Amino acid sequence: MHHCQTLLQAARIVTQDAQRRVLSNAALAIDQGIIVDIGPSAELSSRWQADSCLHLEDRLVLPGLVNAHTHAAMTILRGLADDMPLMDWLQQRIFPVEQRLTPRLVRLGSLLGFAEMLRTGITACTDMYIFENAVLEAADQAGIRCLAGEGVFAFPSAACAQPSAALTVTRELAAQYQGHERLRVAVMPHSVYTTTPEILAACRDLAQELNLPLHMHLSETQEETRLCQEAHGRRPVDYCHNLGLLDLPCSLAHVVDVNSAEVATLRQHGVVVVHNPSSNMKLASGTAPVTEMLEQGLTVALGTDGAASNNRLSVFTEMRRAALLHKLRTANPVSMPAQAALDMATLAGAAALGDARLGSLEKGKAADCVALDISEPNMLPLHNEASQLVYAATGMETRLTMVGGEIVYQDGRFTRFDYPALCAEICDLRAFLWRAAGLA
Ligand SMILES: [Zn+2]
Repeated sequence: MHHCQTLLQAARIVTQDAQRRVLSNAALAIDQGIIVDIGPSAELSSRWQADSCLHLEDRLVLPGLVNAHTHAAMTILRGLADDMPLMDWLQQRIFPVEQRLTPRLVRLGSLLGFAEMLRTGITACTDMYIFENAVLEAADQAGIRCLAGEGVFAFPSAACAQPSAALTVTRELAAQYQGHERLRVAVMPHSVYTTTPEILAACRDLAQELNLPLHMHLSETQEETRLCQEAHGRRPVDYCHNLGLLDLPCSLAHVVDVNSAEVATLRQHGVVVVHNPSSNMKLASGTAPVTEMLEQGLTVALGTDGAASNNRLSVFTEMRRAALLHKLRTANPVSMPAQAALDMATLAGAAALGDARLGSLEKGKAADCVALDISEPNMLPLHNEASQLVYAATGMETRLTMVGGEIVYQDGRFTRFDYPALCAEICDLRAFLWRAAGLA
């Protein structure tokens, strides 16, 4: 008999392993945050003596979903401005509020964002914002995994008067979180159109020096491409390639306006694209050619983007939207099958975060998993797990969320922070946010 900390028994386990096996009446043995065994429940309970047993025999367990592009703190802007053209939306509503943000507001908004993510089956995310130290504090408090970075802009943000200050913050955060079990830091220039070649070169040099990955928005709209060609004589992918950004471990959000030569360049450099279907639809940014990307062998993950442009932080929503959107775009119902969407939310998400421990439930992987209630009306009957997860589930079926072997959400309760107190603080922000957005 071996000893482990936790034995988790479930009706079904969607492993997302190389064979995409789904196990019935199965169990995970978990120790020190790692899956040490997986297989039939009867076999594991005779093999493992556990400190605690989680009886989830009426649940479906799957790998924790990865939200590979978000701005968690933007939950406080949710519903403040919708149905507006991108530039009006940004300049009239979003930027005026963001100029008045403080570390406290960012911490509260981020904690709400992480609560929503854990509540809907997300165990890891990539987050870019300002006052990212406050985001990391919130991530630590919530217990989510996070690859975080201070947004680098050419113009002053509420947090940093100059781009060099944002790079200093990045350097300090990288030192502070070095070796952290769940939190890591990346260099995050906001985009091509909010930076300069000099700033991007400084970002590249810092990433190289500190051995950090790079994450940014790229080729989000045709307008961005036009501006980039006008200012720099190159399209965005070529411009970044020329600056050496693609030689770094790199994930890029959106990548909507790209041609097949650019897709080939991204694939050759091992770049991971993060597709944000809801945000692209809401802002009418365009449709990323994801089916062509996948055919060319590019790795494509999923992101929610911020709550102001979505307005949900649910990767279940993004899986469903991605599967539906690309069938519509290609006029082909065979495009983007459910399994492909599930792979984007799990295995490709792990690649986007550069963390091979994530994305599947296998021996030696991190014990990051979620358990869904499959007795909910929309989850019955269960013929095909991938289909149910992508087309039928909403995310609100999540009953348990585990990160690194620790339960961080279970049956309506967050284990590491006081959610009712957070609700009260968030509601108290409403008057301030209305004034800041010029609505009152
Ligand atoms: Zn974004």
